[in-house]
Amino acid sequence: MASLFEKKIGELKGVGEKRAKLFEKVGAPTVGALLRFYPRAYEDWSHPSPIASAPLNVPCPVRATVLSSPVESRVRAGMTLYKTTVSDGSLDLTITFFNNPYVKNFLVVGQEYLFYGKITGGFLHREMAVPEVCPIHAAPAISPVYRQTEGLSSRMIAGAVGQAIKLLPDPIKDPIPEDIRREYALCHLRFALENIHFPSTMEDLAVAKRRLIFEELLVLQLGLLHLKSRTRQDIHIHTIADHSKEFFELLPFAPTNAQRRAVAQALLDMGGKTAYAMSRLVQGDVGSGKTAVAAALCHSVVRSGMQATLMVPTEVLARQHCQSLRGFLEPCGMRVALLTGSLTPAKKRKLLEELKGGDIDLLVGTHAIISAGVEFKNLALVVTDEQHRFGVSQRTALAAKGENPHLLVMSATPIPRTLALMIYGDLDISVLDELPPGRQKIDTYAIRSTRRERAFGFIQQHIAQGYQCYMICPLVEEGKSDMASVQEYAGMLQTRFPGVTVGVLHGKMKPKEKEKVMGEFVDNAISILVSTTVVEVGVDVPNAVVMLIENAERYGLSQLHQLRGRVGRGPVKSSCILVSDAQNEEAITRLKVMCQTSDGFRIADEDLRLRGPGDFFGTNQHGLPDLKIANMMEDMETLQQAQEVAKEMLSQDADLSGDAHRGLRAQVRQLFRQVGEQGFN
Ligand code: ADP
Ligand code: MG
Repeated sequence: MASLFEKKIGELKGVGEKRAKLFEKVGAPTVGALLRFYPRAYEDWSHPSPIASAPLNVPCPVRATVLSSPVESRVRAGMTLYKTTVSDGSLDLTITFFNNPYVKNFLVVGQEYLFYGKITGGFLHREMAVPEVCPIHAAPAISPVYRQTEGLSSRMIAGAVGQAIKLLPDPIKDPIPEDIRREYALCHLRFALENIHFPSTMEDLAVAKRRLIFEELLVLQLGLLHLKSRTRQDIHIHTIADHSKEFFELLPFAPTNAQRRAVAQALLDMGGKTAYAMSRLVQGDVGSGKTAVAAALCHSVVRSGMQATLMVPTEVLARQHCQSLRGFLEPCGMRVALLTGSLTPAKKRKLLEELKGGDIDLLVGTHAIISAGVEFKNLALVVTDEQHRFGVSQRTALAAKGENPHLLVMSATPIPRTLALMIYGDLDISVLDELPPGRQKIDTYAIRSTRRERAFGFIQQHIAQGYQCYMICPLVEEGKSDMASVQEYAGMLQTRFPGVTVGVLHGKMKPKEKEKVMGEFVDNAISILVSTTVVEVGVDVPNAVVMLIENAERYGLSQLHQLRGRVGRGPVKSSCILVSDAQNEEAITRLKVMCQTSDGFRIADEDLRLRGPGDFFGTNQHGLPDLKIANMMEDMETLQQAQEVAKEMLSQDADLSGDAHRGLRAQVRQLFRQVGEQGFN
């Protein structure tokens, strides 16, 4: 099998240079890769329905006799139509083909064929455009449908796959060892490959699929666990004493029970009683107080004589976090420093020296922290916030700044537990399922743009009372920059709200400018902050009590929820106004969900349901390789099995060098190459 990955696709019959390029384009440059290029769907020809009762508008097979020979008519230059009528006795069916003179010879009057396509039409009239056709005796049971590209049809791909299957060595070495196949009732690789492409029954297809899904998830888990083990040598575990009591007494508020629990769980992990460093995910809705949890842990780490670091995805957020952590920790005499890309060289040099010398206790920053030259004296705790924005490799790089540091991941995107397991390997999970007391529900309204003026009136009242407001600016028009669109909108607002200070925040601004604007907003020198979604994460201004979001339909549910979480952070009743003229049903559903609930878990579930996990965790967000056949949501049970097997396998053969594991090892390397990781080299 491995050798087929060296065999170029052009070595197959009928695949010339040009076609080989197309195969490369769809992701099958070699014969081996082609065998792993699974169909995206199947046509089941095995149960034709009577034309009269066949479902409309979904592809299905019918079995019918040709009544008349195809009639040719030229629709326009370059477009010739062929039309014929067929029948199965229940009803006639008009069939059309375009630019396919071949059907004139192929379809013989009086003969029976299978036609596969979408039936349309109304009362007693049925049509099928460009069906697949097969003589009765040659009809496949189930035929594969591949992702095609211009010049390379699904049928051509099927032809090449047919040849590739004949080239499989006999016997083939199955990468999944036999004992595991037996234990989990998985079919052999040969059966799986033959039947994922050309199944004779739907049952065989299911068997093949299950095995390939298992294999893919096993490879994924082996890779993730291996990546993790590189940072988990566990030669030395930093032992952190529990100083949380002191910290909680210094807090200006009483911690929620959920916060206490999360802190206690993490301190137990870090207490030196286990053989591993901590790897914990703290999930909590916006406003649940994750920062205080992180602060409590940093506090105990520093009290135990070590350093901590917190990495966040944006500069604005880094500054905010730095400020709040200073508020928590400086009264205890701890030193908190900020490292971002915009530090002057002189300041940076000084900071790096102090960090290395151990004068800085907690370093807060953006991914600048993982750059070369940043060295700690004694890093014992690594915290990442809004983790879903960092990739696996960034997390690994950050952990490598210390000697096996404890790891805390904070996420405001509630993820079902099993999915979290998949993405984070074997992180333990704490959930902040409680908001600090006194939080009020944020009233949320969806309005049409015709009522925007009324919303502006509402905003004006709040500003008159000294409150502040966020406005998320409209969709950027094509050919216009982000900046131009924010500024234009701000100009309009300035005219509408004379005498009110309007500030502007967008992604193109220099960090210094952003910081200045944010600072003014925090100080209430700005009443209306017009922004793109850069305020999405983390920013905390309790006096801002209204948020208006233009073109609300263009955001996903989780993003809207994050945005809305910027208000409602103080004791005052807050509101969120979603402006949208969307007609499309899914968008309307989304806005409705927002108006109905403020429960982040419910919103995340809806988001997953509406958009599917693919979008929810776009590759660039989680840093995981793309999967070909497994589905994160649907295959959770298999995922858990695969994880168990992976753990067991690595505990016996940590680098998969044993003969029985070599095939899997090669696959892990291949899968993770996509995301720039070099597992097992
Ligand atoms: P998030 O979980 O979204 O990161 P933050 O950590 O930013 O939430 O906390 C939101 C706000 O709630 C902050 O102003 C913080 O000081 C405050 N806060 C956190 N915990 C509590 C608590 N137990 N009681 C009252 N206010 C709290
Ligand atoms: Mg936060």
